[in-house]
Amino acid sequence: MSQNIIPYGKQNITETDIQAVVETLQSDYLTQGPKIKEFEEDFADYVGSKYAVAVANGTAALHLNCLALGVKPGDKVITTPITFAASANCVRYCGGEVIFADIDSETYLLDINKARELLEASPKGTYKGIIPVDFAGRSVDLEAFRTLADEYSLWIIEDSCHSPGGHFIDSTGKKQNCGNGNFADLAIFSFHPVKHIAAGEGGMITTSDKSLYEKLLKLRTHGISKDESSYENSIDFAGGHNTYPAWYMEMQELGYNYRLTDFQAALGLSQLKRADDGLARRREIAEKYFEAFKGKSFIKGQSGVVEGHAYHLYVIEVEDRLGLYNYLRANKIFAQIHYIPTHLMPYYRQFGWKEGDMPKAETYYKHCISLPMFPTLSDEDQDIVLNKIIEYYK
Ligand SMILES: *Cc1c(COP(=O)(O)O)cnc(C)c1O
Repeated sequence: MSQNIIPYGKQNITETDIQAVVETLQSDYLTQGPKIKEFEEDFADYVGSKYAVAVANGTAALHLNCLALGVKPGDKVITTPITFAASANCVRYCGGEVIFADIDSETYLLDINKARELLEASPKGTYKGIIPVDFAGRSVDLEAFRTLADEYSLWIIEDSCHSPGGHFIDSTGKKQNCGNGNFADLAIFSFHPVKHIAAGEGGMITTSDKSLYEKLLKLRTHGISKDESSYENSIDFAGGHNTYPAWYMEMQELGYNYRLTDFQAALGLSQLKRADDGLARRREIAEKYFEAFKGKSFIKGQSGVVEGHAYHLYVIEVEDRLGLYNYLRANKIFAQIHYIPTHLMPYYRQFGWKEGDMPKAETYYKHCISLPMFPTLSDEDQDIVLNKIIEYYK
């Protein structure tokens, strides 16, 4: 029993990562320097989007998206209850109303048919947008969501926090990377240590829409513009002759300070270079779980082996979840539960959400457990996890 704690997720910081951060600390820029731009460009390349905007964290990314899309008090937005609360909270930051739609029991993703039912039940224009989540790393079929969104003039924010490197196959047989901007207006990623790419804190917005991109750049830094062609005040007022003086800038709308630092970007950039290796290892781990659980009577469901899945989490559904969770914990295996349905959080209950509203999400929550899943999980440790689970149900 000398085994170390096996967590459900864990960052991997290498000597190269540390060097990258040290070099940035010794450079002229601690924030908004060259590493930010480099990280943005490499990340956009990685997912296949035209633009990327680095921000302070994934939640800030969601908030800026809602601001850029113009979410106003009373605007109704659809999302899934099986996600981190931030996917819904961003709508509330702008005073919008969160309308939950149930999940599909097999994919654990927002059920497009449930979203369609909501849309059909109200006059067009009632809903403004939809926030599907690539939960656990499994990509939503964004092509289908785009078709639905166009029918009802909705915008789409893809919450891709779990799925950097993930993809789905579209109707023409083409790979569509999560966050590539081909279907969603905007997508977001997080660089929290449990996510694929760790930067301490950090987030990224990807898009292929130039005007949204420009809005986001401005909103990220107080709503300030340094682009002369956008200036609203006159050169005279600014204090120049014929041209605006070099010091001049304008705060044109109410933005925030949601910037990422250059040393975090250096860490993210260094981690991004290894992202494909990490993803391949995650898929290997998933395969092994899948094979070990196939046909086992205690398994009610599992994430399984799915094309394009990025395996942020490996989720299984079991009988006696509490018993298993406690047994694993007693054996130093810290599995986790993703997620307590957001609509049943006390904050959301005040808007009238209650048990029974999302039957599939609620049933899923009774049985789900996320097993250790991170690239540096050793074969030996995964064997310990597997053996303990099988032992528990004997
Ligand atoms: C982590 C996460 C977020 C929030 O990201 P932070 O960087 O922690 O703010 C949002 N949505 C999902 C699905 C996440 O997993």
